[in-house]
Amino acid sequence: MRTYLIHRCIPILIGTRTLLPRYRRVGWSKMNQKSTQKSHTTATSNVGKMQQIVNSDSGNGWDRCWEEGLTPWDLGEPTPVLLHLHNTGALPKGRALVPGCGSGYDVLAIACADRYVVGIDISDNAITKATELSSESPNAEHFTFLKADFFTWHPAELFDLIFDYTFFCAIEPDMRSAWARKVHDLLKPDGELITLMYPIEDREGGPPYKVSVTDYEDVLHPAGFRATSIFENELAIAPRKGREKVGRWRKSASQSCL
Ligand code: SAH
Repeated sequence: MRTYLIHRCIPILIGTRTLLPRYRRVGWSKMNQKSTQKSHTTATSNVGKMQQIVNSDSGNGWDRCWEEGLTPWDLGEPTPVLLHLHNTGALPKGRALVPGCGSGYDVLAIACADRYVVGIDISDNAITKATELSSESPNAEHFTFLKADFFTWHPAELFDLIFDYTFFCAIEPDMRSAWARKVHDLLKPDGELITLMYPIEDREGGPPYKVSVTDYEDVLHPAGFRATSIFENELAIAPRKGREKVGRWRKSASQSCL
């Protein structure tokens, strides 16, 4: 009986210990029963403050959030499923773009000799942080960070891959059609868009604004994209589990023949 209890408890304790730091860090996610009431309140009020700043200062709100350290979306590490796709050779090589890259963990994670990665963000402070965090990376020649507005940016070269996580849900929903057209314009004809769709839930307001697979289809289909696969993100961090799906999209052949 005693042995049984020890065996039952070890995974639970290990699980709790490994997950707790994430609950503290990832305030943009719904907290669960493992969170303390205090950290829940702090995270919720940080999300509230962040929303107030972004929504009241459309020109500069994101930058102010970065300046004030109100970044409840920041995982402090690369997105696990992206890292998995990279490590298993399942990502296109060539040139990749991460729009709204924030601290830049995802840019760094997939930069390598076969893939040059560009991270853009509208916030000067985010780009400064990403540049500082990556300053000692041995992969420095395989990535860059630029301060740019995704919607008005015109790079000299197109991309083989665009990875969108927490950008689609960050922009105002009425910008989603423009987002899809821009993704189309930035990708090479055979390029791939990978969306990590989050948060798939019923919630009011934002950012992050609620999303659904249909929301993506509604704007990506008219822009000429079709999904090649859509699947549950089994590697979602604990507080986002069940609220994320991976979508892989390509420009459809029929559209490009018109
Ligand atoms: N992907 C990052 C950051 C998500 S928060 C992460 O998961 O940690 C959304 C980010 O998009 C912010 O860093 C914000 O500054 C940036 N952003 C908002 N509007 C933008 C725009 N029009 N162009 C580029 N970046 C933008």
